[in-house]
Amino acid sequence: MAILPILKYPDPRLRQISKPVTAFDEELAALALDLRETMINAPGSGLAAPQVDQPLRIIVVDDTGEDEAYGEKVLTLINPKIVAAEGEQIYKEGCLSVVELQSDVRRSAEVTVEAQDVSGQKFVVTASGRKAVILQHEIDHLDGVLFLDRISRLKKEMYRKKLLKTQKMAKNT
Ligand SMILES: [Zn+2]
Repeated sequence: MAILPILKYPDPRLRQISKPVTAFDEELAALALDLRETMINAPGSGLAAPQVDQPLRIIVVDDTGEDEAYGEKVLTLINPKIVAAEGEQIYKEGCLSVVELQSDVRRSAEVTVEAQDVSGQKFVVTASGRKAVILQHEIDHLDGVLFLDRISRLKKEMYRKKLLKTQKMAKNT
């Protein structure tokens, strides 16, 4: 297992459309474990394979229950697809690829997701609240979409400017 480096916005590789997984082999199982370890190490609520420069449709999602320790339960979804969505919620999101920004994002309140496990077995997850947010956020990554694309243009522009300034300052020191 390994902790993989996470790409940071505005890296263009975050905009790639990830390819469906077709080989359910040892390599896939190893990548899924690395994603899990990388997410827990960060620590984060979810991680998508393109964030570690592997443009494949794989996501991991923190599934810790109220009385459980973080990292105990992580869902791995291969080729996840939202098949049903209902209602609306606004939730403050952040992203391991978007440093120092948290912002309210409007998403579906409940989603049903079809996916496969590392052996190719199909399963269905229905989630609401935080878990529904993470699933939608991570599946967005597979299509090159960041939560930044779902906030106001003004907020996004302010963030870009702030980021440029920080990068300039880092170069000068
Ligand atoms: Zn993210």
